[in-house]
Amino acid sequence: MLTNDQLARWDRENFFHPSTHLAQHARGETPTRVIRTAKGVYIEDRDGRQMLDAFAGLYCVNVGYGRPEIADAIADQARELAYYHAYVGHGTEASITLAQMVMERAPKGMSKVYFGLSGSDANETNIKLIWYYNNILNRPEKKKIISRWRGYHGSGVMTGSLTGLSGFHNKFDLPRAPILHTEAPYYFRRPEGIDTEEAFTAHCVAELEALIEREGADTIAAFIGEPVLGTGGIVPPPAGYWDAIQKVLAKHDVLLVADEVVTGFGRLGTMFGSDHYGMKPDLITIAKGLTSAYAPLSGSIVGDKMWKVLEQGTDENGPIGHGWTYSAHPIGAAAGVANLKLIDSLGLVENAGKTGAYLNRAMKAVLGDHPNVGDIRGEGMLCAVEFVEDRDSRRFFDASAKTGPQIAAALASEGVIGRAMPQGDILGFAPPLCLSEAEADLIVAATKKAVTQVLG
Ligand code: PMP
Repeated sequence: MLTNDQLARWDRENFFHPSTHLAQHARGETPTRVIRTAKGVYIEDRDGRQMLDAFAGLYCVNVGYGRPEIADAIADQARELAYYHAYVGHGTEASITLAQMVMERAPKGMSKVYFGLSGSDANETNIKLIWYYNNILNRPEKKKIISRWRGYHGSGVMTGSLTGLSGFHNKFDLPRAPILHTEAPYYFRRPEGIDTEEAFTAHCVAELEALIEREGADTIAAFIGEPVLGTGGIVPPPAGYWDAIQKVLAKHDVLLVADEVVTGFGRLGTMFGSDHYGMKPDLITIAKGLTSAYAPLSGSIVGDKMWKVLEQGTDENGPIGHGWTYSAHPIGAAAGVANLKLIDSLGLVENAGKTGAYLNRAMKAVLGDHPNVGDIRGEGMLCAVEFVEDRDSRRFFDASAKTGPQIAAALASEGVIGRAMPQGDILGFAPPLCLSEAEADLIVAATKKAVTQVLG
């Protein structure tokens, strides 16, 4: 068997890791972490050390690890038919069944699902569909897309640009146009002088209106947002936010894209985040929870209004020139079918709402009074703790102190994985939806220890 040292050497010499400090890793200053197996909410490394994964990988292993039903479905599919493409009307039993299952679960008013591989490529698809749509409608100027600061929509060229986090833009020369950013619906970081969620919602709406009016509504095609901001800090919107935003979009004939890569398939305690907030999107981005990451698969769910125009476009122009080799890959589709069945049979949507609320309550009860805890927030099976130097004035720690990463590291040494969110001292939790109350208690107790260790 390969030794850990051998693997670490090969890793440093050959493996270009995503979102990693390349120089430090090559110098061996950051460890190679080799995960060997996992079951339920626990992952285990090669030395047999178990950790409670309170971030479900990258908020994606929604049904938990080690489900034989999905493993068997993948193996059966690989034996029967590992691959065939989906171009010009081709499909497999798995891909057609999954499309049916997704549309049965989708919010009302949605028409069809297009399958890709990752959240990023699904959002690239969305951007192309939005532009195609306005070209068919003879509105060649209506092409700009509004995203929010702190939104996360992917790491591609256009989707990286949609992402409103500077760390994902730095030094890449991503195209700024035709992407515009507006206020993040982040109540805890609201401007001075705003004291209620309703007033902050009004502020976000006014910012959006001003942006649309400044640019001209006839140039704005779409608005994209996660129902709950994810990577930007795990931030549920202020009261009334989505209703008020949708009124502005309707007034200016601007499409709504709900990026449900994190919230889709149960994380908020409803099948979709759009159901939770009464959103009526024209496009929905799905990935992660679609297969619980047992195989890569994503999708763009297209609403009725856009679908009619897309059909008309092909009558005018011929087949739509958009496809990936791996669109609707049978192995991903087989994983998706087995995964959605498990979500239903295990009652995971309900559990996400119930146990997620328990986790959030317990976190507040144990850490709510800590002088350096500025905010504890969440929705469904999402929870975040934001740390501040001074609670009353909402003064943040200097970023160079790396308070959030230190707390995440202390938490890991307590055997629990949370995530230091990339912008601010925010510890995020997004456990598998099968989390039990006893496991939620373990997360909270370990977090309390980690916070005390770093901040006293
Ligand atoms: N949208 C959202 C809301 C996400 O959280 C992510 C990934 N974290 C993406 C898109 C991109 O997905 P992927 O990493 O699969 O490309």
